[in-house]
Amino acid sequence: METDALIATYVEFYRPLCLLICTRCHTTLKPGKSIEKHFRKNHKLKGKELKDLLQHCFSFSPADPDDIPLPDDFSSRIPYLQVYKGFICGTCYFKTVDNSNIYRHFTSFPDCKKETDAFYPVELQSFFQNNRQKRYWAVYSSNPRFNLLRGK
Ligand SMILES: [Zn+2]
Ligand SMILES: [Zn+2]
Repeated sequence: METDALIATYVEFYRPLCLLICTRCHTTLKPGKSIEKHFRKNHKLKGKELKDLLQHCFSFSPADPDDIPLPDDFSSRIPYLQVYKGFICGTCYFKTVDNSNIYRHFTSFPDCKKETDAFYPVELQSFFQNNRQKRYWAVYSSNPRFNLLRGK
């Protein structure tokens, strides 16, 4: 593949946060060795293609997503990152994609139940897709149903 086509296929640099995103996997990439590992392992790239793509990636000096704070709740979506349907606690803004966690949350945090006793549907994003690394924030949605808690 030509370098430009290769770049267009796999990577996008999100300038406001200096994040390198794999547009195929809808996840950010941590700078350093893991970028190479990602394209080798997940996309089977090697040789000149891999080298050209890596050169492009490193030309940006991407930030480490683990080092930057999560975006504010209900900020605009970061393009190319996965969007999840989930729920947010009306009291403490705890977020989850699994509605069985709602009951568990209210059991562990009775004050949340006492105060609002409500979870609202939201759209969420995370820098990573890997369950172990997932940390969500709520994004502003084009569907008002998912912005109910915004401005409350
Ligand atoms: Zn990928
Ligand atoms: Zn809560």
